[in-house]
Amino acid sequence: MKLTFLGAAGTVTGSKYLLETDEEKIMIDCGMFQGLKELRLLNWQHPEFDPASIKAVLLTHAHLDHTGYLPRLVKLGFKGKIFGTSPTLKAAEIILKDAAKIQEEEAERANKEGYSKHKPALAFYTVEDVTHTIGLFQVAEVDEWVQISGNIKARFLYNGHILGSTFIEIKANEKMLVFSGDIGRENDLLLYPPKKPEKADVLLIESTYGGKIHAEESTIIPQLEIIINDSVLKGGSLFVPSFAVERTQLLMLMLWQLLKDKKIPEIPMIMDSPMGANVLDLFHHSRKWHKLQPDECDEMCSHFTIVKHFRETLEIREDKIPK
Ligand SMILES: [Zn+2]
Repeated sequence: MKLTFLGAAGTVTGSKYLLETDEEKIMIDCGMFQGLKELRLLNWQHPEFDPASIKAVLLTHAHLDHTGYLPRLVKLGFKGKIFGTSPTLKAAEIILKDAAKIQEEEAERANKEGYSKHKPALAFYTVEDVTHTIGLFQVAEVDEWVQISGNIKARFLYNGHILGSTFIEIKANEKMLVFSGDIGRENDLLLYPPKKPEKADVLLIESTYGGKIHAEESTIIPQLEIIINDSVLKGGSLFVPSFAVERTQLLMLMLWQLLKDKKIPEIPMIMDSPMGANVLDLFHHSRKWHKLQPDECDEMCSHFTIVKHFRETLEIREDKIPK
């Protein structure tokens, strides 16, 4: 067997592993490089392998740095199956469509304003490319072995990083390889603690926050309380930029808890993100994957105005009440 690190080595984005046996090639995660321009340019390089020769892609979770290269892979000839848990594939659809839309809009703007040195500037991939990609999605049941090819089996196990996320065990040529994916926390308000692998001949583990200790969420909520009350006292509004997948929902939960415990006043709370709203729907439909009870989920959402269109954002900006 041969294992190649095609991303997330020396940097934290672009997660992609290529696993080759005598018979087959599979990929584990298929992420896009993000951040600095020199990293983003790596996305445009022609891959060192033939995408048409890959039998399958296995996804640990939906984040763009683990899925964002998929439509490109498909565009370059990949025709195999893309395996992931049901929430992972649903979230990947939301994230990839959003990414494609942004790339199309950026190319359009570059062409209109003429600032790209490429004539015409092209989108890295389009919404249509994403549609082709989604057609290859294949749900893998959690905890069950899935036959990927002749001598490769895989199993997806809960790892508590985001909705649907897993680590993946792969049995190939009598060896057990474990791909950790991004790993969740032991104590999380929304998600259960990660399961642990029992055996591995080879363990591949993310280390983005290696050497750093995260603040406990229990210490974050009182800090949030002080900041919110301070802003309201000044007659201002508090803006909290947040990742749309998982973080936004976690923040909503924290804000709702503060409100329930009467630690903050009844002020308008707005979740302004179409993608965040789509992920919130996914939370409603993926009950066994997180700790929120259906009635809690409804109750929490009832305290928020969910904004999906920028016109509403503009209206909200006009009124001056603290929020
Ligand atoms: Zn992630």
